[in-house]
Amino acid sequence: MMQGRATTTNSLLFAHHAGGELPCFRVSGSEEVFIDGLGEQGLGKVMVIKVAINGYGTIGKRVADAVDAQDDMEIVGVTKTRPSFGCDLAVRKGYPLYCTFDEKEKIAAFAKAGYTCHGGLTDLLGVADVVVDCSPGKVGAANKSAYVDAGVKFIFQGGEKHDMVGMSYTSSANHEANLNADGTRVVSCNTTGLSRTLVPLYERCGSLKVECTMIRRAADPGDSKKGPINAIKPVLKVPSHHGPDVMTVKPEIDINSMAVAVPTTLMHCHSIVAFLPEGHGLTTASVLELWAEHPRIIIMNGGETNITTTAEVMEYARDIGRKWGDLHEIFVWEDGVKLDGNTLYYFQAIHQESDVIPENIDAIRALMGTESDWRVSVAKTDKAIFAYNGL
Ligand code: NAD
Repeated sequence: MMQGRATTTNSLLFAHHAGGELPCFRVSGSEEVFIDGLGEQGLGKVMVIKVAINGYGTIGKRVADAVDAQDDMEIVGVTKTRPSFGCDLAVRKGYPLYCTFDEKEKIAAFAKAGYTCHGGLTDLLGVADVVVDCSPGKVGAANKSAYVDAGVKFIFQGGEKHDMVGMSYTSSANHEANLNADGTRVVSCNTTGLSRTLVPLYERCGSLKVECTMIRRAADPGDSKKGPINAIKPVLKVPSHHGPDVMTVKPEIDINSMAVAVPTTLMHCHSIVAFLPEGHGLTTASVLELWAEHPRIIIMNGGETNITTTAEVMEYARDIGRKWGDLHEIFVWEDGVKLDGNTLYYFQAIHQESDVIPENIDAIRALMGTESDWRVSVAKTDKAIFAYNGL
């Protein structure tokens, strides 16, 4: 049970208390309030991290609900650029609505459309510990100075450049390196997917070289402006950014990628060839076992289940009650995996709108320094999301 709660703070401190390290808030000035209590593990709920979402779109609305599901963090506000249908969802969820901008006229436009707007971005940052920037790709960079000026921690998404942020993140690859950092970038959906299956392989084998092709969805289901709608569009930048991006979270993996966009909205599909080192000791079966031991990977046999395309994977996600039809896990077809000598071939499917969502939650804990063990954070994140969605 919480004994005290900061309302205006951005600064989260740690102090010695009752023989251990417990977090405490510095409240408007210098007063420190211990958040203490006795729960199942003896400490109970020790901290509630205040999270702002800047950009309540495809990723933003999903991250907001994933935050809302956790008992150690809460949404203090979400932003919209202007009154639009997304505001209704925020209102229904009870998330305080803010304007992405500070201009008075832009804020006033919300009231004219019947929404209560609590202020501009600066107001929101004033009540947050961490902001998750979910603005469209390449747009977020312009927001960084506002976060730095406000003294809040920040998480960008994969549409931003690693160099702009200076850190990147996936839960299994480099949670520890991100502990207490000022800001990070949760890598793209494709890079997150590659990291999920390649990092365990790298850690088992000690070295790994990879060539892969991203067969990318043309647009998200909610997009009306992107394509192609009747073509296969190769990414004429070789290698594509995906492989090198994996190296921002696991530089030890030697990986190149190519990419093509195809006319589908459902999922991405990866065709991966991994070269294992001599003496790796693995078999096709033990590679599958290795992945099965790792979180956020689903392995199913296409022939046996009749889940042979991304359409059926998505139907499966809907059948098992996943909100918005999301699939946070990477889907690996068991019968599409083959280890031939030192060369491993496999396919995996990535639900682009959702695989990065739980990663954002773990990244919040990493930046705030509240959980140093990535596996503990992942388990906590996923359990809370399942419970929140009644699964
Ligand atoms: P989106 O277009 O669905 O949502 C972006 C939201 O940000 C919209 O509500 C938009 O109004 C708002 N916005 C516009 N300008 C803004 C600004 N200056 N500051 C703050 N917000 C602003 O985009 P998305 O698909 O949610 O993508 C968000 C980020 O996540 C991008 O970096 C993208 O590359 C990355 N990402 C997207 C996917 C995906 O499949 N959609 C997957 C992984 C990562």
